[in-house]
Amino acid sequence: RLVALLDRVSKSYGSGENATCALRSVSLEIEEGEFVALVGPSGCGKSSLLHLLAGIDRPSEGKVVVLGESLAALEERKLTEMRLRKIGIVFQFFNLLPTLTAEENVELPGLLGGMSPKEARQRARALLEEVGLAHRSRHPPEQMSGGEMQRVAVARALLLEPGLVLADEPTGNLDSEASQVVIDLFRDLGRRHGATLVLATHSQEVAAASSRVVRMRDGRIVGEEPATAPGP
Ligand code: ADP
Ligand code: ADP
Repeated sequence: RLVALLDRVSKSYGSGENATCALRSVSLEIEEGEFVALVGPSGCGKSSLLHLLAGIDRPSEGKVVVLGESLAALEERKLTEMRLRKIGIVFQFFNLLPTLTAEENVELPGLLGGMSPKEARQRARALLEEVGLAHRSRHPPEQMSGGEMQRVAVARALLLEPGLVLADEPTGNLDSEASQVVIDLFRDLGRRHGATLVLATHSQEVAAASSRVVRMRDGRIVGEEPATAPGP
């Protein structure tokens, strides 16, 4: 099953002489259960591609279809709804709310998405246990290490059982030990839950844990590993 499709997608920011072309005719298909690592130098368009998949931005040209919805055609309200319910996002700097405990942070998408408080709490606890942080559930982010905060952020991203999980440099702010824990967590999500993951990363270790490396440069996809076998 196809989870996401980009068909000759281009993305420019700004207009006229000041326009920056971030993506140039990018085509990509992502199947259910894949763990895709987007790699390439800073500025090559990784974040722009993630933003399109997340419905945070719309393409300038071409077609983006995510979980069966064509994003260009979707009205703003539906786009927001889809972003909230169907897509889990993990950021480099965690983006946890500092005044809430770990458990409350994880519950939040459930409460915003209309889950009952009881169900949201049960699910948040189960997820915190799964990421190995049951014992930290009542702590605020400021009392946690970077690696712990990122595991909380992963749990939060999974609360509504999203069809697609996106992450932008999820280990970019972690030391190597904490990175490895987060990488193992992502790999487990794929193996145990069949999650579909797309990560932008500079980390060799993240790329090595993925099932498919998509290499970008200057707004284009310039290679894939393992190389897709040529057709007959
Ligand atoms: P990467 O994630 O690989 O570092 P980005 O997608 O962030 O690449 O950036 C691709 C190009 O688009 C860069 O030249 C960047 O400066 C530009 N860019 C990204 N976002 C914006 C924006 N909101 N406004 C203007 N230019 C942008
Ligand atoms: P990364 O390299 O981790 O992808 P960037 O520093 O490229 O991060 O981008 C961080 C954020 O700033 C992104 O949301 C991106 O869209 C935005 N951005 C990047 N370049 C520009 C730019 N030239 N003008 C405005 N926003 C930008």
